[in-house]
Amino acid sequence: MKIVILGSGSAYGCPMIFNQWNLLDTKNPKNIRNRASLYLEIDNKKFVIDTGPELRLEINENNITDIDSVFLTHGHYDHIASVPELSRASSSKGHAIEIWSSAETEKELRQTYGFMFNGREHESAGLKWCRLPDLGTFTSQGIEFQTFQVPHHQFHCSAFRYQDFAYVTDWETIPQQGLNMLKGIKLLIIECNNGLYPEKNGHSDLENVKKVIEKICPLRVILTHLSCRIDYNAMQTSLPQNVELAYDGMTIEL
Ligand SMILES: [Zn+2]
Ligand SMILES: [Zn+2]
Repeated sequence: MKIVILGSGSAYGCPMIFNQWNLLDTKNPKNIRNRASLYLEIDNKKFVIDTGPELRLEINENNITDIDSVFLTHGHYDHIASVPELSRASSSKGHAIEIWSSAETEKELRQTYGFMFNGREHESAGLKWCRLPDLGTFTSQGIEFQTFQVPHHQFHCSAFRYQDFAYVTDWETIPQQGLNMLKGIKLLIIECNNGLYPEKNGHSDLENVKKVIEKICPLRVILTHLSCRIDYNAMQTSLPQNVELAYDGMTIEL
């Protein structure tokens, strides 16, 4: 399995609009972050988790030549902004792209992108809408994944596991059924939006992540969906030994 972090940034990206760097060292390229997104290649099948506004740039930058399936975690803009572009991507490749979402996320999609539904289905030609269970297993491209939901603002956000790897973004807490599903994983890529600054904003911070690590004991943890208060070098020194920060283009072979 090959994993590429397409984007490691929080909802507003780093730097934010008007070159707002906040606590970031402007000279470190690892502080330049697109919105959170992940590429996963398993047995030559190509998956993307979340499609933020920079998806086109990320796909081109990382020389990714196709997408078979997309898994959407939830309906916030930084995770679904590029969904309409996938119809064009599908027609250029001559095959359908599966778009997997929970019932709740699909409802958000239909509201946000009314022009792709409601009798305008030609706007979403080539996309195959597929339903994620809230909890359990599903099969895409012949490969079985597990999924569960975590609370996040007013949303429930879908998290994913494949074999020894799991991806959890945009979370406040992880319910017991999710913790059960994460037991035994080797690599956890998890949102740590708030870093060292706990805040009740629907996201997580390092202390919350440490509590999850204590419960599930993954071998390696990568923090993603990072805000402009998380400077790469400054934060790296505050992390436990098996925890590191994501950066755009980071590639892992498992
Ligand atoms: Zn987000
Ligand atoms: Zn969100």
